[in-house]
Amino acid sequence: MAPSVAVIGGGITGLVAARALTARGARVTVLEAGSRLGGQIRSVAFAGHTVDVGAEALHIAGPHVGSLLDELGLRRDLVQANPGSAWIWTGRGLRRLPAGVGPAGPTRLRPLLQARILSPRGLVRAGLEPLIPGSTRGSDVAVGAFLSRRFGRQVTDRLVDPLLGSLHAGDVHRLSLRAATPYLAAQVDQHRSLLLAQRGRSQAGAPSFVSFPQGLTRLIDALEADAGCTVRCDTRVEALTVVDTDSGCELRTASGESLAVDAAVLALPAHAAARLLAETAPEVASGLDGWRAASVVTAVVSYPAAAADAAPAMRASGLLLPSTSGRLLKAATFLTRKWPFLDDGERMLVRLSGGRAGSEEIAALDDAELVRRLHADLAEATGLGAEPLEVHVERWPRAMPQLEVGHLERLAAVRGALSARGPVVLAGAPYDGIGLAACIRSGQRAADAILTLRAPTSEAVP
Ligand SMILES: Cc1cc2nc3c(=O)[nH]c(=O)nc-3n(C[C@H](O)[C@H](O)[C@H](O)COP(=O)(O)OP(=O)(O)OC[C@H]3O[C@@H](n4cnc5c(N)ncnc54)[C@H](O)[C@@H]3O)c2cc1C
Repeated sequence: MAPSVAVIGGGITGLVAARALTARGARVTVLEAGSRLGGQIRSVAFAGHTVDVGAEALHIAGPHVGSLLDELGLRRDLVQANPGSAWIWTGRGLRRLPAGVGPAGPTRLRPLLQARILSPRGLVRAGLEPLIPGSTRGSDVAVGAFLSRRFGRQVTDRLVDPLLGSLHAGDVHRLSLRAATPYLAAQVDQHRSLLLAQRGRSQAGAPSFVSFPQGLTRLIDALEADAGCTVRCDTRVEALTVVDTDSGCELRTASGESLAVDAAVLALPAHAAARLLAETAPEVASGLDGWRAASVVTAVVSYPAAAADAAPAMRASGLLLPSTSGRLLKAATFLTRKWPFLDDGERMLVRLSGGRAGSEEIAALDDAELVRRLHADLAEATGLGAEPLEVHVERWPRAMPQLEVGHLERLAAVRGALSARGPVVLAGAPYDGIGLAACIRSGQRAADAILTLRAPTSEAVP
């Protein structure tokens, strides 16, 4: 008999896991607390367009993303982000983000020289990187401490903080080198110098970010259509009891319904997974307890195109602010520049982001005050002289998991304890890394893990 599997959480991770499980013969039910699938992917109608108010760009990072798009027949529908460059906010005005600088720091020195972001002293210190001995092979440290040691503190504070810190809504002095920046950790393990490792390599263009004219919900719709499983929205799972590996587990929903399944994938935030497991696996629940997640907010705003065109700074693809800026605005994406299909000649659409780990500031502001503050920060930075025409505010409480130093060891302990209990697997951003590419891989691996853990025996979810 094909095993029955409950996938709890209908975000991208849960849907990828569900599809991979049904493809291999399991009978799958997706149980989603909300009224829609997609989780942190949400596309809304705005100013005559469809705009994403959660995740907005898919990085075609690894073979698993490309092959998923191919299998779903979505490749021909993709639209490519304009690779236009972004601004970095500095106390001395905006500066262009230099070529070759990413969330993991610089890969080339020459563009840094022209960028006027580092002081002469900071530039000299960054240039000494090849002389700094390598010492972190295999061990974990904070990304900020690691990059400060290699390139100097200015590179961390003025480049890595606004890039990586904004991306994770986190503190680069707490984020784990190995969990938050696995690509950097791989380089570190192979090369003593990060700059020398790049020498002679062709500098590929900016990484490829894509979406769909209908927004990223197109990917969610395609996954749901292809998954061949039962989907139940408005079904919050309140508790999970692991019987044992042979007998599977029982779920209790908020409406009091009980469901018996052979196995379960928990594609949920860590605090939600801890709550489900509190009774049946208290050691796992307490292991997940205290995993930090930042609350963030996205305000999509439209301005008259003529006013935006009159502010030269708004011709780039966006703006990033360091945590030291003292501003509520963390990042602004100039959507109309980034996604040419949104350009209607009348409106400039901008996505304003706020919220960082450890700060409750956004929760204390109502929507109107939030937009007023975010807009004021943008106008101050760019010289934009117009007020918003239309606004959509989307709040994401505890949405950005903070993969902090030691995360991989904590994760291994929690996963080990859970697999000893029975056929239940954790998947998604809080465990395997934020970003859609990481979640797609995590969902696929969860399906593999369930089928390895579980020998099919019992009846399906009703
Ligand atoms: C504002 C924002 C912008 C982002 N931008 C990008 C981007 O541009 N590119 C990128 O790659 N990544 C981006 N990310 C990150 C990316 O969106 C996430 O890493 C990814 O979507 C997480 O997917 P997930 O399925 O693991 O979790 P979620 O999407 O959080 O899904 C979890 C689901 O579980 C459900 N749930 C919770 N509790 C229960 C329960 N008890 N019972 C049943 N269901 C439950 C929730 O309702 C939710 O639908 C962004 C994230 C945010 C918040």
